[in-house]
Amino acid sequence: MGELKALELAAQLGHEEVVLLQDRDSGLRGAIAIHDSTFGPSVGGTRMRPYASYEDAVVDALRLARAMTYKATMVEMPYGGAKAVIMGDPNRDKTRPLLVAYARAVDRLGGRFFTGCDMGIEPRDLKVMQRHTKHLSHTGEDSPLDTSYLAALGVFEGIAAATAILGRTLAGLHVALQGLGAVGFHVAKLLVEHGARLTVADIDPARAERAARTLEAKVVEPDSIYEVEADLFSPNAMGGILNDDTIARLKVQAIAGGANEQLLEPRHGEVLNSIGILWAPDYVVNAGGLLSLLYETKQADEEGVVERVRMIGPRLADIWQRSSEEEQPPGVIADRIVEERLALGRRAKSESVRRTKYEDQ
Ligand code: NAD
Repeated sequence: MGELKALELAAQLGHEEVVLLQDRDSGLRGAIAIHDSTFGPSVGGTRMRPYASYEDAVVDALRLARAMTYKATMVEMPYGGAKAVIMGDPNRDKTRPLLVAYARAVDRLGGRFFTGCDMGIEPRDLKVMQRHTKHLSHTGEDSPLDTSYLAALGVFEGIAAATAILGRTLAGLHVALQGLGAVGFHVAKLLVEHGARLTVADIDPARAERAARTLEAKVVEPDSIYEVEADLFSPNAMGGILNDDTIARLKVQAIAGGANEQLLEPRHGEVLNSIGILWAPDYVVNAGGLLSLLYETKQADEEGVVERVRMIGPRLADIWQRSSEEEQPPGVIADRIVEERLALGRRAKSESVRRTKYEDQ
């Protein structure tokens, strides 16, 4: 049975809890994957897509939830990772009763899961949900902070840190940039403001044209971006773009971009390392957007959040240094940092539970 395979993966990835969603009246089908809550309630967006199977939907939630734990732990947020998926075509199947049923399912978790937008779920959907649960984490329209700008600022800091390692400056740096959406366009703009030169690609010709017009970027066909002879490649579109095919075509010295889940398989991190391409682990370099949650929850002001985002550069520099000293790919070093923090956190949590029990006797 497919579902059992997904549950096996949940155990393998160490998920705390997985809730399968099925609502007869609204047709809601999906899953909420809570990966970890060692450092606080788990947070993660809700994604709605016409998944080919229930198995695919659950597997997507499981992987993305774990990545959220790693991202939040790396930037020392008081949160854990989660993700929810809803099966269906957002343009056709997203009805009010479905969103209400989903919001009620989120609410039943009693604040152990906070969710927001992801692919297929927009701010107006959260407004519908808001009446049925308060467990939403979302940068409101009136917020002075733009999460995609913060994500881009983190990526920019990552690129600046990589540039320093290459012994170069941003002025005159040639960046091949994939994807000019909410994150990519901000990254492109920041780079040009600091004197970098861009070659860009987007499957939406209007977006590429805008970059050519306003940022003097050179535009290439989407599939040609991997072959551009540049100093750095910045992927800001979809995941899985670092694979056997693309890596063989890359002519850059470093990679840093906002896209999630960039490596098709973990071994591609090793491949990049073995050919001397410096890679910024995705969940480290793109954590800027998540940090805006500190503002939403009143744990930091605007300036405090920006300061935390700017620390992404030094954090990467530290990972790269350890990577070179220990002759291990940067992704392996980053994972180890997170896993050590989680192990310490879990130990401290279980000791405090033991102490409480003892005192209760
Ligand atoms: P977006 O949808 O606004 O932009 C994506 C852009 O990539 C679009 O312009 C799209 O046309 C383009 N694109 C898609 N396929 C492409 C291809 N094959 N070649 C070239 N261009 C292509 O999305 P976004 O919010 O900018 O997010 C981009 C990436 O960054 C995603 O992987 C997302 O998960 C990740 N991310 C986003 C945030 C955030 O706050 N928005 C935070 C962290 C990570």
